[in-house]
Amino acid sequence: TFTEAVVPLAPEDPLFGLMAAYRKDTFEKKVDLGIGAYRDNNAKPWVLPVVKKADDIISKDPDLNHEYLPIAGLPQFTSASQKLVLGADSPAIKEGRVTSLQTISGTGACHLGGLFLSKFYSPSKTVYLSNPTWANHNQIMSNVHLKTAQYPYFSASTRGLDFDGMISALSDAPSGSIILLHACAHNPTGVDPTKEQWKQIAAVMRERNLFPFFDTAYQGFASGDLAKDAWSIRYFVEQGFELLIAQSYAKNFGLYGERAGCFHFVAGPSASAQEATKRIGSQLAILQRSEISNPPAYGARIASLVLNDKDLFALWEENLREMSGRIIDMRKALQSKLEELKTPGTWNHITEQIGMFSFTGLTEKQVLKIRADAHVYMTKNGRISMAGLNTNNVDYVAQAIDKVVR
Ligand code: PLP
Repeated sequence: TFTEAVVPLAPEDPLFGLMAAYRKDTFEKKVDLGIGAYRDNNAKPWVLPVVKKADDIISKDPDLNHEYLPIAGLPQFTSASQKLVLGADSPAIKEGRVTSLQTISGTGACHLGGLFLSKFYSPSKTVYLSNPTWANHNQIMSNVHLKTAQYPYFSASTRGLDFDGMISALSDAPSGSIILLHACAHNPTGVDPTKEQWKQIAAVMRERNLFPFFDTAYQGFASGDLAKDAWSIRYFVEQGFELLIAQSYAKNFGLYGERAGCFHFVAGPSASAQEATKRIGSQLAILQRSEISNPPAYGARIASLVLNDKDLFALWEENLREMSGRIIDMRKALQSKLEELKTPGTWNHITEQIGMFSFTGLTEKQVLKIRADAHVYMTKNGRISMAGLNTNNVDYVAQAIDKVVR
């Protein structure tokens, strides 16, 4: 029976454990650089002004009710999500080669994609993940009985992309393998391939017949430009790949807890693409039904209203530029402070990396020391959430880093 300890005690989720430790800490100058959620310059969660506006409009709608959404989600939401990620003029959309389901944020989209591959994709049951990757990728994929393998991604010596390592692993991967790619703002490293490198990645994947699965959790949040942050996916679609996309609205709308996301299947261009897309959509709907029945309504209503309204969309873009701009400013401030302090090592990687995170290069020992001595909280791999920095604490953090590095 279960009272006889057949279920072992699982370790606490490291990130949420770190958050709990931070909350308990009573030190006045403590700094949270752990969780990947945007904070304003006062270290407070930020409700995007556009989300407030949309919320106001929705709450005044006399026809609003709490009925179930369709199995595949709010249709205006899924179609706007296709346009957002693929581009409004995407031939794939026009040719009926895309089928989309609203999911439980990006996590749910990764899961639905994994489940679909596990059930229906026969060339391979191995999904290659970048080393390192968002920790949840491993358990999401193994939960649906896919094997995981790694491709090199981060070079500890340059604190940039290990492009040769990545290309060589892709070249060696068995034909048909699934390759999970971060569309932009790679988590945890903040390191993205250049356009030229993406082109070479696509070429190797084409040659080796590898199957792309894109995870896009930071569109617009990374650079402030929605099209720029979707470039890699659009390029692969243009090249005619059949692929999957897991899309999250947690970060770019600040809708973390509302679980708004979308999963897309995109077929390559062919005479039977439209018919195949229909078949695949029908199977995805059955998977969705057995997993969650219907996705949650609130976050999707907010996002849908904004995505489908010209003025609200423009305001959203402004809000995105504000978030990404503040983060870029903090990157510059941290780098220049460390350089001013003549902290041993080079710090240009902080401004070269992009998105929510920076891989500082601090060792686990240094991470534990900076937590104990300065009450600065970051994950053990030396990743810091840039959004946790602000004009009030960046000098303090730079000095704390300086101290543990010396
Ligand atoms: N994928 C990556 C790479 C992420 O960093 C995250 C969030 O941190 C997600 C997906 C999904 O997050 P959510 O389920 O909150 O949308």
